[in-house]
Amino acid sequence: MSDELRIKFWGVRGSHPAPGAGTVNYGGNTACVEIRAGERTIILDAGTGIIPLGRELAQRRALEVLLLFSHLHHDHTQGFPFFLPGYLPNVRLHIFGPGGTPETLSQVLEHNQSSEMFPVSLRDMASAKDIQSVRESQIIVWDEAGVRLAESTIGVDHDAVLIRIHKSYAHPGGVYVYRITWRGKSVVYATDTEGYVGTDRKLVQFAKEADVLIHDAQYSEEHYRGQLAGFPSTQGYGHSTVTMACEVAAASEAGQLILFHHDPSYSDALVAGMETSAQALFNKARAAYEGLELALSVSPSPNRAERSASGDEAGRLRSVPVGEGLG
Ligand SMILES: [Zn+2]
Ligand SMILES: [Zn+2]
Repeated sequence: MSDELRIKFWGVRGSHPAPGAGTVNYGGNTACVEIRAGERTIILDAGTGIIPLGRELAQRRALEVLLLFSHLHHDHTQGFPFFLPGYLPNVRLHIFGPGGTPETLSQVLEHNQSSEMFPVSLRDMASAKDIQSVRESQIIVWDEAGVRLAESTIGVDHDAVLIRIHKSYAHPGGVYVYRITWRGKSVVYATDTEGYVGTDRKLVQFAKEADVLIHDAQYSEEHYRGQLAGFPSTQGYGHSTVTMACEVAAASEAGQLILFHHDPSYSDALVAGMETSAQALFNKARAAYEGLELALSVSPSPNRAERSASGDEAGRLRSVPVGEGLG
């Protein structure tokens, strides 16, 4: 088993796909990030970036995949009907996301593939699918025994992938922020979130000391404030500026910040300029682009030091007072 937690960006654009000559450097596909924890594959969102990822997973013969939806806006779901592993009968998909009842998520996905909307129904995709809406208080655990939901990390194996949830209200309809931890390394995925005056303190606590923070940075300062010619102010739209993303990264002491969910109307030059301005505020900042890969080294084997490191992590997070609480 690999001793790296790997992160790969397959779709980094927000709102709608943005193909064309002006976006080739950063890419035009909508939100999709792949996390590999050893042999386990976790996907964050199913924007159009999941389509090329699906082809690769089919080639790789990945038989079990965990898919997390931050929320169910189009740019986070529209690639799912074209996700090749979904059509393979030997594949099992574990799918989690927000919703008022455990069935809400499957109902929305079924609706997206109703006969008026799409030629193939969710049921007719041949893979085995466990689809469930989850609550903020639940922890998704993936260990030797498989994928399950837990209310605490007590008794969880040191090699388990742990996924914690923070429900943010800083986006219309709410959005889930996920923290994925494996062998002491953590990635926080905070897309579709708007900063608060004085920084989003709950998000800062949830993201505390994450090795990688992936944060919404859709808008330039001018655009957000309505000072960009031809564009209205985007305050209240539920997306952040570079400054907001950098404030969260600095306050949470993240190892590195990845700017994400680029505005579909922004050219490569504009995103590059935002990346430069981010680096002046938080020096370990960069803009996500399609194909960007990060690798975090984790401890190679179950030894005492590692157990205590992941125990600290679990303990610290259990004490975080977010929403319904974590344990
Ligand atoms: Zn979005
Ligand atoms: Zn959204």
